[in-house]
Amino acid sequence: MDKNVWKDAKQKKVKAIDSFAKEYIDFLNRGKTERECTDYIVNAIEKEGYVELQSLIKDKKSLKTGDKVYAVNMNKSVLMFNIGEDAMEDGMNILGAHIDSPRLDLKANPLYEDSELAYFDTHYYGGVKKYQWVTLPLALHGVVVKKDGSTVEINIGEDEDDPVFFISDLLIHLAQDQLEKKASKVIEGEQLDVIIGSMPVTGEKEEKEAVKANILKILKDSYDIEEDDFHSAEIEVVPAGKAREAGFDRSMILGYGHDDRVCAYPSFVAMLEAGTCKKTSCCILVDKEEIGSVGATGMRSMFFENVVAEILALKGEGSDLALRRCLANSNMLSSDVSSAYDPTFASTFDKKNTNKLGHGIVLEKYTGARGKSGSNDANAEYLAALRNVFDKNSVTYQTGELGKVDIGGGGTIAYILALYGMNVTDCGVPVLNMHAPWECISKADLYETKCGYVAFLKDLI
Ligand code: MN
Ligand code: MN
Repeated sequence: MDKNVWKDAKQKKVKAIDSFAKEYIDFLNRGKTERECTDYIVNAIEKEGYVELQSLIKDKKSLKTGDKVYAVNMNKSVLMFNIGEDAMEDGMNILGAHIDSPRLDLKANPLYEDSELAYFDTHYYGGVKKYQWVTLPLALHGVVVKKDGSTVEINIGEDEDDPVFFISDLLIHLAQDQLEKKASKVIEGEQLDVIIGSMPVTGEKEEKEAVKANILKILKDSYDIEEDDFHSAEIEVVPAGKAREAGFDRSMILGYGHDDRVCAYPSFVAMLEAGTCKKTSCCILVDKEEIGSVGATGMRSMFFENVVAEILALKGEGSDLALRRCLANSNMLSSDVSSAYDPTFASTFDKKNTNKLGHGIVLEKYTGARGKSGSNDANAEYLAALRNVFDKNSVTYQTGELGKVDIGGGGTIAYILALYGMNVTDCGVPVLNMHAPWECISKADLYETKCGYVAFLKDLI
């Protein structure tokens, strides 16, 4: 049923909503990149008895009901499985979210000096309104991998004592021409260069680019990094600072990367809460969704299918036919965000078919653009079964579209899993100002989403 979750929430529920929100805020603050999210989740699930797949294979272990397994792909995506009571060829209940978020990535040759200012050159990742990224405090997160294979982890700009970085914007006094430009041209991709220093190196010999030389000296002294080491680095520029409660009533959370960590977090928590179910439960936390699910760590890679095949083999169901059956008989929630209705931009939404902050988990039949193109248009039968599970478990859900027809659109990983012939629909949290450096969600929706995911894993037969 669609209603405002807060309206008749008893004190006990409000407390539960609040304490779950606090845990989530901590996750957001520790996981600003797919690698950091992967680390956080692996640490958390190992404590809950999840065992790494490769070690099971090496030790020739077999799997039975109640066993918990995880697999990590290149430090950027995680799969979790809790082996259920039924044969796996009868299908799994799968939650699938992504842990990459829009951001700016450093280029392979990022460092340069211009007019005694040192810069990092970037290439944006995912859909961003470029003008939103200027004049904000920014942090650097990522890894530099050196030729000897050792990894230097970078995380600068989050501690109060850390320096931050920023991209300059033109002062208003000189912006007459800039303000006449289209919003997509006000700040262009090549202008998204991060200012990282202004102090020349001191010493006897006169350096040509003394500010850049000074940065290189600091990088060498503090991190043992040479300029060439950026050739094999993945450094992400993200908004600096912590996620915060928003509003006098503290009903919302303003944070970086809600898309899609606000679904990834309740997905992995739901796996722990639901425990062992009738069907095998699976949680996919994948990388690269924001750039089309490409690459070895994106949903379109064979990693998921290969891992399911390994698990079937360890369970004694290891045939190609069992794998095909397992995938085709599965149910999946593509746990991804949708838009929340924004009264300031009312004309972009169809008010009858929109998601509202505080109205619970979103059950979305289709996404896509221009006549549902690129969407996975879920089956009515599957949606009916989900409605039934949500209602039975008193989960508040709503159904809406991203926005008005022909005004834009978007996609998720739903269509990729649907290729196996399984039931898939989109189902997650509505977000205000999605893909902005700071996005907003409702604590109530986060909580209902977690409850909805637990109900799905336990009760969808
Ligand atoms: Mn998303
Ligand atoms: Mn997105």
